[in-house]
Formats: sequence, structure tokens, C-alpha cells
Amino acid sequence: MSRFTEKYISGFMSGLQARNPGEPEFHQAVKEVLTSVAPCLEAYPYLLDGKIMERMVEPERVIIFRVPWMDDSGEIQINRGFRVQMNSAIGPYKGGIRFHPSVNLSIMKFLAFEQTFKNALTTLPMGGAKGGSDFNPRGKSDAEVMRFCQSFMTELQRHIGQDTDVPAGDIGVGGREIGYLFGQYKRLRDEFSGTLTGKGFAWGGSSLRPEATGFGVCYFAQQMLATRGESFEGKTVVVSGAGNVAQYAAAKAMRLGAKVVTLSDSDGFIFDPDGLDEEKFAYVQQLKNVARGRIKEYAAKYPASTYYPGERPWGIKCDIALPCATQNELDAEGAQKLVDNGCICVTEGANMPTTPEAIAIIQGAKLLYSPGKASNAGGVAVSGLEMTQNSIRQKWTPEEVDAQLHRIMTDIHEACIKYGTEEDGYVNYVKGANTAGFLKVAGAMMDQGLV
Ligand code: NDP
Repeated sequence: MSRFTEKYISGFMSGLQARNPGEPEFHQAVKEVLTSVAPCLEAYPYLLDGKIMERMVEPERVIIFRVPWMDDSGEIQINRGFRVQMNSAIGPYKGGIRFHPSVNLSIMKFLAFEQTFKNALTTLPMGGAKGGSDFNPRGKSDAEVMRFCQSFMTELQRHIGQDTDVPAGDIGVGGREIGYLFGQYKRLRDEFSGTLTGKGFAWGGSSLRPEATGFGVCYFAQQMLATRGESFEGKTVVVSGAGNVAQYAAAKAMRLGAKVVTLSDSDGFIFDPDGLDEEKFAYVQQLKNVARGRIKEYAAKYPASTYYPGERPWGIKCDIALPCATQNELDAEGAQKLVDNGCICVTEGANMPTTPEAIAIIQGAKLLYSPGKASNAGGVAVSGLEMTQNSIRQKWTPEEVDAQLHRIMTDIHEACIKYGTEEDGYVNYVKGANTAGFLKVAGAMMDQGLV
């Protein structure tokens, strides 16, 4: 790193931290991108003069709103709603909605910032956004979730639209929540449009949208493994999470010939030495998506497996690790265990699940490692395809969508190779993804003048 680049990064980060205090996740995400793209800024001074990075870290719009609702006992509850519309240089704002008690402005801004580059990588015309609430759906009745979603959408509807901002799901927002949100949007706006993605198949959804993120993670990992003449066949895979992304990443890895030995939730993880099979996968789907149970119940159902309360799965010996739960879930200690146990590939399904210290250990050991903005882009890519299908009033077959998902993940992988290959031949996927996404968004912003 040149002296200029080092000085630029440290000056920029001090300014960012002073201007956005108490937002550690946002600082972390910006620093990662800045470290990757600073050499581009040095190479193209017109981007520096255009203050492109300063503009990118300032959201175009932030909406924070009150979400009042009544619980089943008749008590009034108040939550906080957010929508961060980060960047619309290459298309309407697009990004998920998260319902989790940890949601705050820092997490919303980090996710919206990441989303901007991820969406640029998909090659589809989508800007970056993220939204959510500190509402916790866990333990709530369907009626409570519906009342909350209706109140949330009553405010959000005035800020979104199919050509303006198109939300989707994320942690705590799956098919049930998208249904309630879409129903209220349609009722208030009197329009049946593609304003939300992740819709049910019968009412505007795309085939393969539920599977898209997890499947895309495995398609991306396949490409990474192929650079070293490897594949999923016969490999042992550790997956964290048990939600949408984890379920379909695990299922695809299994179908590609790997043995998936773990799943987790925020209470602990299960280790199944025999690996997942189709019957166990169907059980997990029923447990998590219908019964809304906890992953420890898997160990009760399959006695050959073990439940480890309060722990993460990184100490289990594996060839491939797929972190698919949440941000900063894989720390330095976990990364060191993966390296010591001979893991060869870490492909992120979640957004920013690996801490900077853990990334340094993984990349230092020259493991294959990809950031979520590249490897989990399959979800938003198929959301983009859902928008297209809604606009042209058509439905594509699962085979057609899968072929496009494959193509998009391959294109993203190629972009990472193009911009991320280092002098010794090691592919730095972080640098590759950040640089490719940044150059596209920066170019569009420069073309459109000072807006
Ligand atoms: P889900 O809500 O379906 O599942 C989330 C899973 O992660 C659950 O098993 C949950 O456990 C666990 N989890 C959540 N918070 C924590 C925490 N603080 N500590 C430990 N475990 C936690 O969400 P998704 O599968 O949709 O999302 C998972 C990740 O993938 C997120 O980072 C999301 O941003 C990212 N992502 C999702 C996309 C999508 O299409 N859905 C697209 C691209 C990225 P518990 O039940 O205990 O909360």
C-alpha cells in the first residue's frame, strides 16, 4: 500500500467516525471497501476530485419512523422502523427488510452500503437500500406479526414503489412477512405491482427466489473450488444458521455430493457426523419454517447428532465453511480453528459474517475466501429477475431462472478474478468484488453529475 493510500484511508476513516459516531458496523463495512478501492482513487484522480467516496458513504435518504401496534393481550407496543436509501446511481433502490431486536441505524447503513456494491455486481440495474425494525418476530403469534407488518407498511408505503424502491426479505422477514407487507401495500396504494420481491409464487413471485441466495452461494463456491481443481464432491461442509440462506446452501451442497454436518441458531449448533440427507432437510424446513422451532430439536429427533448450546460450529473439522447466519459471527478464534483443521474454502452466505481479524487469518493462510457481497448476491439477483417478470407480466420456469442465476454467479466470479488476482496468483475476492462494484457505481455517479 502506498504512503498516499495509507494516509488517505486513515484521514477518511477519522472523518467518517467523527461524522457518524456509534456506528461500528458501518465503519467496518466502509473501511473494508475503502481499503480495496483506495488504489483506484489514486490511479483515477478525477474520482478523488469528484469526492466520490465521500458521496457514497452519505445515504441519499434515511427514513426513521414509529411503528405502533397492539399485541394479543391488548397492550400497545412501539417499535422503530428504518429505510436507508443509500444509492440510486444504477437503478431503483433495492434491498431487504430485517426484523431483529439488534436492528439499529449502524446495521441498516452497513447493510445498505454493502447492498449498493452487491447489486452492481449482479449486472442488473438496481441501486442499494436496506430497511427493517427492532421488532422481534420470535415467539409472536401470526396475528401479532400481521398487525406489526401492517403498521410498518402503513408508513413505508409512501417511500417505496416499483420504480423507486423495491424491498425484499432478510433476517426475520420470510414468505409470511412479505405476504402481510405486500397485502397492506396493495390495499393502501390500490395497485398490484412488483414493489416487493420474495412474493408467493401464486401472486407474483419468481420460481427459485426462496432457494436463490443459498443455491447461489454454492454456485459461487463451486467456481472458487474449481480454481484449485476442487469440487464439493466428498467434502465435509460446516454451515452456520438454520434460516433461509443456511437451509438452501446446505441442501445444494448436499446435492453436489458434500456431507453437511452442522446447522445453528443464536442459541447453539448441532453436529451430525452422518450428514444431512433429503429426509433430514425436509425435517429442518418443517421445524424452522412451519413449526418455528429451535435447532436443538434436531438433536432430539436424530440421536446420532449432538447439540452444543451457546457455541458456534467453527471448531468442527471441515473442508468448506459457509457462514450463513449473521454479521461478525466468525471471529479470529473461529478462523484459526478452521485453518488448523485444514479447511480450504470459506464462502460467505450472510452479510459481513467474518470479522476483519478473521479475514486476515483466512487470507493470510491463503484459503479461498469470498465476501457475502459477491457470494450471496444470488438472492438479490433473482429478486431482480422477479422485478423483470412482474414488469413484462410473465413467469419463467425454474430451469430458466436457474440458468440465469448460474450465469450471474459466474459473471460475478469472473469480475472478482479480473480485479482481485494478486501478483502471486492468489485471488483476493474482497478486493475483486469491492473494486468491480465500486467502479460501476462510481462511473454512473460521475456520468450523472453532482446529484
Ligand atoms: P433468517 O431469519 O431466515 O435466518 C437467520 C438465521 O441466523 C437463523 O438461524 C438465526 O437464528 C440466525 N441468527 C440471526 N441472528 C443471529 C445472531 N445474532 N447470532 C447467531 N445467529 C443468528 O435470515 P436469512 O437466512 O434470510 O439471512 C441470513 C443472513 O444472510 C443475513 O446476514 C442476511 O443479511 C443474509 N442474506 C440474506 C438474503 C436472503 O435472500 N434472505 C440475501 C443475501 C444475504 P435465530 O432463529 O436464533 O435468530
